[in-house]
Amino acid sequence: MASAAGRPLADNNRAHFVLVPLMAQGHAIPMADMARLLADHGAQVSFVTTPANASRMSAFVAHAEATGLAIRLVTLRFPAVDFGLPDGCESADMLGSKDLYGNFLDACAALRDPLAAFLREEQRRPPAPSCIVSDAMHWWAAGVARELGIPRLSFNGNCGFASLVRYIVIHGNLLEHVADEDELVRFPGFPTPLELAKAKCPGSMYAPGLKEIRKKIYEEEIRCAGVAMNSFHDLEPVHIESFRRITGKKVWTVGPMCLCNQESSAMAARGNKASVDEARCLRWLDSMKEGSVIFVSFGSLACTEPQQLVELGLGLEASGKPFVWVIKAGDRLPQVEEWLAEGFEERVKDRGMIIRGWAPQLVILWHQAVGGFMTHCGWNSTIEGICAGVPMITWPHFGEQFVNERLVVDVLKTGVEVGVGGVTQWATEQKEVKVGRNAVRAALSKLMDEGIVAEEMMMRAKELGIKAREALAVGGSSHNNVNLLIQEMGNKANATD
Ligand code: UDP
Repeated sequence: MASAAGRPLADNNRAHFVLVPLMAQGHAIPMADMARLLADHGAQVSFVTTPANASRMSAFVAHAEATGLAIRLVTLRFPAVDFGLPDGCESADMLGSKDLYGNFLDACAALRDPLAAFLREEQRRPPAPSCIVSDAMHWWAAGVARELGIPRLSFNGNCGFASLVRYIVIHGNLLEHVADEDELVRFPGFPTPLELAKAKCPGSMYAPGLKEIRKKIYEEEIRCAGVAMNSFHDLEPVHIESFRRITGKKVWTVGPMCLCNQESSAMAARGNKASVDEARCLRWLDSMKEGSVIFVSFGSLACTEPQQLVELGLGLEASGKPFVWVIKAGDRLPQVEEWLAEGFEERVKDRGMIIRGWAPQLVILWHQAVGGFMTHCGWNSTIEGICAGVPMITWPHFGEQFVNERLVVDVLKTGVEVGVGGVTQWATEQKEVKVGRNAVRAALSKLMDEGIVAEEMMMRAKELGIKAREALAVGGSSHNNVNLLIQEMGNKANATD
């Protein structure tokens, strides 16, 4: 077990955390950060993954080894083909269609026995596993944990605000009697004003087989020993406290976990291999004025229709502002490439950098030249933007992203909406252009042009950035919570020794 100050004790007495992330970039990346954070504070970490994901994580593993952290990967075979998935399809961003999401989660559930076998083996030698932190979607890991007498914490990748919304929607059965997708839903017991159209509420996505799986996820969430949350107290104290009260769970806020990546080599090792030379990227950013660049990125899953990308590009061009624009592999359809080549890239070449594929997001976002972030509001991107201390333009596509938009715009007041009307179901194409170039230009102007509104937003964003860093610094709330988590879970392991 580690001491409260985070000093590692003798190896055999260390707390041993077994992390079981959902195989999706937006879940595996923060869990990899969690692994670093726990190991930094003296714990031993086993990170459970599958072969394709292990090879994606080679830079992360190399970095952990080089820095001497007690993290090891545990690779379990993923039975993709047995569940109707293409061979090697081992991560949600490889699915191509949300219709395969149920198959994917079922294939994940088949990792139950291999995980149990691994844990049994580990229980024979010290340090025995003291705690399992598994993604909320891995409901089946809870049964394994119970069987072996190991406490299990749940990780859902959300902040307190979105976790609370999700809890109220699900356990209050809020969507059941709302027929119209556009009908506004209200949230009894929510501590701040909030209403959302049904289609923008968590749990409204439909995919074959998902309803039954969700039921099991929700049941196991109720039974977990606590929740590890990628947020920090000062960001959303009221919502975190409400979540704690309403669920009756122990909640450890240990974020922003991305801040465990301080050197650029660690930042660049997150997720896929970057498809752009990091040094070139930094040189380009160095040549731009401080706070002048808008960074545009929509995460790893959201699918943006070609015509919508064209409008976005035209809005960026019309704004006259420097930009870094990430167009992910799944969006790089021939129509988009054709349009880029037809003149757009040439016209903006002095002030626009287009990254095709995977970007080293933290390296870019945390550069001083970046003064704004146009984001799809995935929680990781959102909290990474908060750490950067930059205001945001919110462009949610589906799921909790609409909830995070409300946190940024209404509660934190560090962002403006681009004005997304409808939901783009994950990995399906939008049927029509929903946000025109003028809306993009207007949002950019509101966010980054001179004026009292932009000025105040920027000041608030900067303050939050400072608070985020304080939370994870020695003596900060999240830093202390990591120690408490290790202490408490480690104690449980010792008690059974
Ligand atoms: N990310 C990245 N490069 C990219 C796209 C995404 O590093 O080109 C990272 C991003 O920094 C974040 C994660 O992938 O940590 C995406 O998670 P998020 O919750 O923002 O969105 P999701 O992909 O789950 O929709």
